[in-house]
Amino acid sequence: MSNNIAIGTPVRTQAIINRYFMHAKKNLGQNFLVDLDAIKGIVKAADITKNDQVIEIGPGIGSLTEQLLLAGAKVLAYEVDQDLPEILHNELPQTIEGQELDQRFKLVMKDVLKADFEKDTAGFLDLNKPIKIVANLPYYITTPIIFDLIKSDLNFVSLTLMMQKEVAERLTAAPKTKAYGPLTLAVQSRMHVKYALDVKSTSFMPRPKVDSAVVVLSPLVQKPDISDYKYFDHVVKIAFAQRRKTLSNNLKTFIADKDEREKLITDLGLDLRVRPEELTLDQFIALSKALASRQA
Ligand code: SAM
Repeated sequence: MSNNIAIGTPVRTQAIINRYFMHAKKNLGQNFLVDLDAIKGIVKAADITKNDQVIEIGPGIGSLTEQLLLAGAKVLAYEVDQDLPEILHNELPQTIEGQELDQRFKLVMKDVLKADFEKDTAGFLDLNKPIKIVANLPYYITTPIIFDLIKSDLNFVSLTLMMQKEVAERLTAAPKTKAYGPLTLAVQSRMHVKYALDVKSTSFMPRPKVDSAVVVLSPLVQKPDISDYKYFDHVVKIAFAQRRKTLSNNLKTFIADKDEREKLITDLGLDLRVRPEELTLDQFIALSKALASRQA
């Protein structure tokens, strides 16, 4: 069923909910976007242009999917709610720029954390060409999804993700701020991160209890000098174990002897009273290298 009122509006979303006797499933993090400005803001942040290949995570009833398709993208979407295929196939536009919906949209009914991108996209997307990932994420799996995608061999040019505002602030935080911590450094050491836009809770149906924001992650042009990410993440975690204490205090786990510890810190050009949140990414990289070479 085609309709010229966008899915991402309160009136159309309510009509779909009524027509299919559906309800938003809390356990799947279902908060549907009903604000066309916010949806278009996501499409713009993702820089979607004609013939872009998009992987969408969690299309829901298709509010974002519809605007991605109308912006010219070919969309492959992962979804887990078995009630949604019928709705998506009926409610999304049946023809887009003269093409049938099937030529432009493919639904994969699978948990994205179990995706086999090569297999799932075969015959529909060309993984040798750029892929943009776009999602209004279920908030409870935001960070596992980000790290899963970073670790995957999927050659994506950007990840445009709606998430809880507090998580967006942590991902994009600068040193010496409250939001700066292990999650910031884990992500910023692997990806370029940009805060794109805020989205009010009134933009969703049902309204979530928290505010939301959109973040765009893209591969770093210059890879940082980190040979062992597992060790780097571990150092950061230990350094922040007690964030109110000094770096020196937190590093007791690595170096019990105070003099040795203080020498390592001053050799890095750092003040002995420095707190973990004052260190930049480069300083954490240098710290991690210095600790690793002591163990070698
Ligand atoms: N994109 C829609 C929108 O913006 O209105 C719906 C977004 S809603 C916040 C999240 C969607 O992700 C839901 O449709 C939910 O069923 C789906 N979902 C939840 N867990 C998932 C998973 N592990 N893999 C794929 N989709 C998932």
